[in-house]
Amino acid sequence: MLCFLFFESQYVAKIMTLRFTSEQIVWQEVPNETSLAYFFSGCPLRCKGCHSAEMWKAKLGTEMTPGYLRKRLKQYRGLITCVLFMGGEWQPELLGELLGIVREAGLHACLYTGLEKDELTQDLLPYLTYLKTGRWMPERGGLDSPNTNQRFIDLRDGTILNDLFLSGELKYDSITA
Ligand code: SF4
Repeated sequence: MLCFLFFESQYVAKIMTLRFTSEQIVWQEVPNETSLAYFFSGCPLRCKGCHSAEMWKAKLGTEMTPGYLRKRLKQYRGLITCVLFMGGEWQPELLGELLGIVREAGLHACLYTGLEKDELTQDLLPYLTYLKTGRWMPERGGLDSPNTNQRFIDLRDGTILNDLFLSGELKYDSITA
């Protein structure tokens, strides 16, 4: 909660947009889904050893707007089953609006966050199908590590799906958002 309050005072009040530095179709990051994935710049968590430290600057990338997302979901209709947002939770109102658009389109929604579940703005949870939680700790590793602090949760029933990343069936590439 302290982290979130920190976000609100230091970031949300100053930054009114989300920008993405990558937009791609992915299969490994959300098991059994074909996902349109966006990586948002501006993560405020500053994890030691972050693989994406160059993306901490919030002004990098293309602005994400509700109109842009609607257009892309229309173009990808029938081709994707899920939308994955990597980050963006530091702007919960805007992220919530984007997640609402995803769910209105009949798609699953996944958020990769460095926060723990109880640190996240709880209003976001009803929009989400999947949630990846936990800061990056180099000594613990990512979802493909048996010692990881991170969790990949199916929020529909609370199942932890980390085993899917450990089995070797998914060639998980240590995405750390
Ligand atoms: S949450 Fe992810 S993107 Fe953010 S600082 Fe930590 S490792 Fe980097």
